[in-house]
Order: sequence, then C-alpha cells, then structure tokens
Amino acid sequence: MREIVLSEKEIQSICKDIANKLYLKFKNSEKAPVFIGVLKGATPFMMDIIKYYPGNLKIDFMEVSSYSGTSSTGIIHLNKDVTEDLKGRDVIFVEDVVDTGRTIKYINQYVSIKYQPKSVTTVCIVDKKALRVVDFDVDFSGMTLRENKFLLGYGLDYEGIGRNIPYIFVPEKKDIEDWEKVK
Ligand code: IMP
Ligand code: MG
Repeated sequence: MREIVLSEKEIQSICKDIANKLYLKFKNSEKAPVFIGVLKGATPFMMDIIKYYPGNLKIDFMEVSSYSGTSSTGIIHLNKDVTEDLKGRDVIFVEDVVDTGRTIKYINQYVSIKYQPKSVTTVCIVDKKALRVVDFDVDFSGMTLRENKFLLGYGLDYEGIGRNIPYIFVPEKKDIEDWEKVK
C-alpha cells in the first residue's frame, strides 16, 4: 500500500481554502493579480487554485531547473520567463514543493528586481520547512512536512513520470521499478 500524504479530497479542500484566502487578500486590488505557476511541478496545483479563485485574475508561467552539483550551492537556471507585464501588480507564485527554498527565493528576487511588482505572495502545496537552507517563508501552504520524504503525484515526479496521479504519496520500490521502464 502506498503511503498517502494528501488524498485527492484533502487536496481539493486545501485548494479551495487557499484560493479563498488569496481572494480576501486581493479582492480590493485595483488590478487583477497575476498567478505565476512554476513549471512543471505546479501544473495541477495551479489549475486547482485558479479554478477555486472567485475573482478576476491573470495567469503566467515560469520554468526553472535547479542543478545541485557536488557542492551545497544550488545553481538555478531560468528556462522560461513570464510574458505578462507585472509592474505594479500583485504577483502570486504557485509552487509545488518548497524544499531548500533556493528555487522560490531565486524567482522571487528575479521577478521583484526585473519587473517591480506591487506585491509578491507565495503559495505551495507542501512546505518541507525543516529542509530550508536559505531564509524563506511561504505565505500559504497546504501542509508542512517535518520529515524528509521523497513525494510523488499531483505534479511531483520521478524522472518526469507520476505528475498526473491526483494525490500525493510516498512511492514504493515497485513504483520506481515500473517507472524506470517507461521513463
Ligand atoms: P528547492 O529549491 O530545494 O526548494 O526545490 C524545490 C523543488 O524541488 C520543487 O519545486 C520540486 O520540483 C523539487 N522537489 C522537492 N521535493 C520534492 C519531492 O519530494 N518530490 C519531487 N520533487 C521535489
Ligand atoms: Mg517545482
């Protein structure tokens, strides 16, 4: 049996809750907020968050990859930048997991400096707070994971496989063996 960390039902209720909290935060903003999904892992979460957001919004996407290398210094590579004009707007980053915090901190700084948004808010489905190596606080998270577990499903992948499974779980040996064949 797979160890389920967040069921499909729990995820949907988390997404409704976060979307409503974001709405309360931005409902009086003059301009529609821009939700930026961090590709590829945040795809299902982004879709659910915008589905439940009851106000006006714009969407955009960024894609980053992080290469940890041999040292502890993660090098972040920007594969895809935004195309919306973010200047003076409320920006909401939608991320799957915040782990060391390097990825989200990098894109926050990058967007803040390059586009000068009015505000920057970060949401993620799983916050691996105990594993932070840089100082970064997520504004709204679905859950905080205290132990270091490798998670799969709902956008999270093993070599690109498993993102379409609608719940979050700890993969078993059998899962990895199966995905090794199709990756
Ligand atoms: P950070 O820069 O260390 O915070 O990296 C976070 C990124 O690592 C996330 O956007 C995920 O793509 C990936 N990641 C972290 N933990 C997991 C996991 O348990 N399963 C799959 N991907 C993960
Ligand atoms: Mg990611």
